[in-house]
Amino acid sequence: MDCIFCKIIAKEIPSEIIYENDKVFAFLDTNPVNPGHTLVIPKTHNENLIDTEDELLCEIILTVKKIAPAIIKAVGAEGYNLGVNSGTVAGQVVFHTHFHIMPRFEGDGHRHWNKKPYKEGEIGEVALKIIAEL
Ligand code: 5GP
Ligand code: ZN
Repeated sequence: MDCIFCKIIAKEIPSEIIYENDKVFAFLDTNPVNPGHTLVIPKTHNENLIDTEDELLCEIILTVKKIAPAIIKAVGAEGYNLGVNSGTVAGQVVFHTHFHIMPRFEGDGHRHWNKKPYKEGEIGEVALKIIAEL
Protein backbone atom coordinates (compact mmCIF):
# COMPACT_ATOMS: atom_id res chain seq x y z
CA MET A 1 0.00 0.00 0.00
CA ASP A 2 1.34 3.38 -0.99
CA CYS A 3 0.53 5.45 2.12
CA ILE A 4 2.90 8.22 3.15
CA PHE A 5 1.82 8.05 6.82
CA CYS A 6 2.36 4.27 6.96
CA LYS A 7 5.88 4.94 5.64
CA ILE A 8 6.39 7.61 8.32
CA ILE A 9 5.25 5.16 11.03
CA ALA A 10 7.66 2.53 9.62
CA LYS A 11 10.38 5.24 9.66
CA GLU A 12 11.01 4.71 5.95
CA ILE A 13 10.33 8.45 5.69
CA PRO A 14 11.87 10.61 8.44
CA SER A 15 9.68 12.79 10.64
CA GLU A 16 9.93 14.83 13.82
CA ILE A 17 8.36 12.37 16.25
CA ILE A 18 6.67 13.95 19.26
CA TYR A 19 5.19 10.83 20.86
CA GLU A 20 4.54 7.19 20.07
CA ASN A 21 3.23 4.10 21.78
CA ASP A 22 2.09 0.69 20.49
CA LYS A 23 -1.15 2.13 19.03
CA VAL A 24 -0.55 5.75 17.99
CA PHE A 25 2.10 8.02 16.52
CA ALA A 26 2.39 11.83 16.72
CA PHE A 27 4.72 13.94 14.56
CA LEU A 28 5.14 17.48 13.31
CA ASP A 29 3.34 18.54 10.12
CA THR A 30 5.93 19.77 7.60
CA ASN A 31 3.53 22.42 6.25
CA PRO A 32 2.17 23.89 9.50
CA VAL A 33 -0.59 26.38 10.21
CA ASN A 34 1.77 27.54 12.98
CA PRO A 35 4.96 26.07 14.51
CA GLY A 36 4.16 22.98 16.57
CA HIS A 37 1.30 21.83 14.26
CA THR A 38 1.14 18.11 15.08
CA LEU A 39 -0.56 15.12 13.47
CA VAL A 40 -1.79 12.26 15.67
CA ILE A 41 -2.39 9.04 13.74
CA PRO A 42 -3.21 5.39 14.47
CA LYS A 43 -0.43 2.91 13.69
CA THR A 44 -2.84 0.76 11.67
CA HIS A 45 -3.99 2.03 8.28
CA ASN A 46 -7.55 3.35 8.25
CA GLU A 47 -8.76 5.85 5.66
CA ASN A 48 -10.67 8.13 8.01
CA LEU A 49 -12.25 8.51 11.42
CA ILE A 50 -15.37 6.46 10.58
CA ASP A 51 -13.22 3.45 9.53
CA THR A 52 -11.12 3.59 12.68
CA GLU A 53 -12.02 1.24 15.50
CA ASP A 54 -13.38 2.75 18.71
CA GLU A 55 -10.48 1.66 20.92
CA LEU A 56 -8.01 3.36 18.59
CA LEU A 57 -10.08 6.54 18.45
CA CYS A 58 -10.05 6.64 22.25
CA GLU A 59 -6.27 6.26 22.22
CA ILE A 60 -5.93 9.06 19.65
CA ILE A 61 -8.03 11.52 21.65
CA LEU A 62 -6.26 10.59 24.89
CA THR A 63 -2.97 11.24 23.11
CA VAL A 64 -4.25 14.65 22.01
CA LYS A 65 -5.16 15.35 25.64
CA LYS A 66 -1.70 14.27 26.75
CA ILE A 67 0.43 16.14 24.22
CA ALA A 68 -1.58 19.29 23.35
CA PRO A 69 -0.64 21.11 26.60
CA ALA A 70 3.06 20.32 25.98
CA ILE A 71 2.86 21.58 22.38
CA ILE A 72 1.11 24.79 23.44
CA LYS A 73 3.61 25.43 26.22
CA ALA A 74 6.62 24.64 24.03
CA VAL A 75 5.70 27.06 21.23
CA GLY A 76 4.19 29.73 23.50
CA ALA A 77 0.72 29.48 21.89
CA GLU A 78 -2.47 30.65 23.60
CA GLY A 79 -4.74 27.84 22.38
CA TYR A 80 -5.19 25.31 19.60
CA ASN A 81 -7.66 23.99 17.05
CA LEU A 82 -8.22 20.26 16.77
CA GLY A 83 -9.08 19.29 13.19
CA VAL A 84 -10.07 16.26 11.15
CA ASN A 85 -10.52 16.69 7.40
CA SER A 86 -12.79 13.95 6.04
CA GLY A 87 -13.02 13.62 2.27
CA THR A 88 -11.35 15.48 -0.58
CA VAL A 89 -13.98 18.23 -0.50
CA ALA A 90 -13.05 18.89 3.14
CA GLY A 91 -9.34 19.14 2.34
CA GLN A 92 -8.27 15.57 3.17
CA VAL A 93 -5.15 14.85 1.16
CA VAL A 94 -3.70 11.89 3.06
CA PHE A 95 -6.17 9.01 3.43
CA HIS A 96 -4.81 7.64 6.70
CA THR A 97 -6.80 8.82 9.75
CA HIS A 98 -5.20 11.87 11.35
CA PHE A 99 -6.07 14.53 13.86
CA HIS A 100 -4.43 17.94 13.45
CA ILE A 101 -3.40 19.81 16.60
CA MET A 102 -2.92 23.40 15.41
CA PRO A 103 -1.42 25.87 17.90
CA ARG A 104 -3.04 29.33 17.73
CA PHE A 105 -1.65 32.76 18.46
CA GLU A 106 -3.55 36.01 18.85
CA GLY A 107 -3.69 37.72 15.43
CA ASP A 108 -2.10 34.79 13.54
CA GLY A 109 -4.55 35.38 10.68
CA HIS A 110 -5.58 31.73 10.43
CA ARG A 111 -9.29 31.64 9.58
CA HIS A 112 -10.89 28.35 10.24
CA TRP A 113 -14.54 28.90 9.36
CA ASN A 114 -16.50 31.10 7.03
CA LYS A 115 -19.96 30.83 8.57
CA LYS A 116 -23.22 31.28 6.64
CA PRO A 117 -26.56 31.89 8.39
CA TYR A 118 -29.56 29.56 7.79
CA LYS A 119 -32.60 30.83 5.89
CA GLU A 120 -35.87 31.18 7.81
CA GLY A 121 -37.00 27.72 9.05
CA GLU A 122 -34.07 25.89 7.46
CA ILE A 123 -32.27 24.91 10.67
CA GLY A 124 -35.18 22.76 11.89
CA GLU A 125 -35.49 20.97 8.53
CA VAL A 126 -31.76 20.18 8.51
CA ALA A 127 -31.95 18.81 12.06
CA LEU A 128 -34.87 16.53 11.13
CA LYS A 129 -33.05 15.18 8.04
CA ILE A 130 -29.97 14.34 10.10
CA ILE A 131 -31.98 12.67 12.87
CA ALA A 132 -33.78 10.56 10.21
CA GLU A 133 -30.39 9.22 9.06
CA LEU A 134 -29.21 8.19 12.52
P1 5GP B 1 -4.94 16.55 5.36
O1 5GP B 1 -4.99 17.70 4.39
O2 5GP B 1 -5.02 15.21 4.65
O3 5GP B 1 -5.94 16.69 6.48
O4 5GP B 1 -3.55 16.65 6.09
C1 5GP B 1 -2.40 16.02 5.65
C2 5GP B 1 -1.25 16.76 6.30
O5 5GP B 1 -0.09 15.97 6.15
C3 5GP B 1 -0.95 18.12 5.66
O6 5GP B 1 -1.13 19.16 6.63
C4 5GP B 1 0.49 18.00 5.18
O7 5GP B 1 1.23 19.17 5.40
C5 5GP B 1 1.01 16.83 6.00
N1 5GP B 1 2.03 16.05 5.30
C6 5GP B 1 1.95 15.58 4.03
N2 5GP B 1 3.06 14.88 3.72
C7 5GP B 1 3.85 14.93 4.84
C8 5GP B 1 5.14 14.37 5.13
O8 5GP B 1 5.79 13.71 4.32
N3 5GP B 1 5.63 14.59 6.38
C9 5GP B 1 4.93 15.32 7.32
N4 5GP B 1 5.51 15.46 8.51
N5 5GP B 1 3.72 15.84 7.07
C10 5GP B 1 3.20 15.66 5.83
ZN1 ZN C 1 -1.50 4.47 6.05
